[in-house]
Amino acid sequence: MTNNMITGKTKLLGVIGYPVEHSLSPVMHNAAIAQLGLDYTYIPFPIEPDKLEIAIAGLAAVGVIGFNVTIPHKQTIIPLLAEITPLAQTIGAVNTVSRQNQQWVGTNTDIEGFIAPLQTTYKQDWSEKIAVILGNGGAARAVVAGCQQLGFAEIHVVGRNFPKLEEFRRSWENSPIAEILETHTWDDLSRLIPQTHLLVNTTPIGMYPKVDESPVNADEMANLSTGAIAYDLIYIPQPTKFLQQAKQQGAIAIDGLEMLVQQGVAALKIWLQQDNIPVDIMRQALQKHLGLNL
Ligand code: NAP
Repeated sequence: MTNNMITGKTKLLGVIGYPVEHSLSPVMHNAAIAQLGLDYTYIPFPIEPDKLEIAIAGLAAVGVIGFNVTIPHKQTIIPLLAEITPLAQTIGAVNTVSRQNQQWVGTNTDIEGFIAPLQTTYKQDWSEKIAVILGNGGAARAVVAGCQQLGFAEIHVVGRNFPKLEEFRRSWENSPIAEILETHTWDDLSRLIPQTHLLVNTTPIGMYPKVDESPVNADEMANLSTGAIAYDLIYIPQPTKFLQQAKQQGAIAIDGLEMLVQQGVAALKIWLQQDNIPVDIMRQALQKHLGLNL
């Protein structure tokens, strides 16, 4: 372990956003850095939207190795980067940037974060399975791409705003995802749930302080099969009402903390160019910070 002393040799990582003071990334990344005994530090940088271009030039000038990107910069940063990976291109958003050959290269580790528990703890053959995704915002894009990467037979996205849903569907038109993707308004949900193997909540419904709300009503949830997986991207509270309902139904519940941890692990692998990232330390640091039971 280091004593976290910052010197002239300390390498810089960070997260840009606005506001950024509530970001959980510094907690988990600095815990990993300390555990690895590396002379790095991870700093939150509040950057107003109209200062983004000058800010990333400044981050390059002071030798920052890499940084995460959060709201509101995930899309607007794209034209300012030298390159973005096909994954980030597919999702249309960047959450991780690294310095490569004197240039900023953007990628998106949310897909890797989302699929991590489905590839390890709950690993199975997904090729005949059906995923139903609630919501069609930014996180839903990573979830759709992740489900396609896992090999799902069908992906159904449920949203409340028809024009936005149509735009969402059209945005995948030039991708293989179009062949397995269907979009639906909320009234189709009761028909979809009985055949669902993976039900993902990407809406903010059920987030603190509205912890008694769920995107799925009791009658609909009663038709979720035993053994299906309910996955909530929300990490506070734990469990959400949605996951409580699913567990009562005999379903497997996955909360959003693992996705948060695993997208961070994937980012650190890129910046540090090494695979041994102390994932348990990162998870524990977050759980402690959030006051969750260890
Ligand atoms: P977003 O872009 O604002 O998308 C939210 C989606 O939820 C939109 O489709 C929105 O519909 C829908 N929605 C919101 N309120 C609704 C309601 N009352 N009824 C029905 N639909 C509703 O947000 P996001 O960035 O995708 O994030 C979504 C959630 O995922 C947040 O809770 C966030 O904290 C969580 N998240 C977690 C992780 C993680 O690592 N665990 C990562 C990313 C996001 P409209 O488009 O019609 O408004």
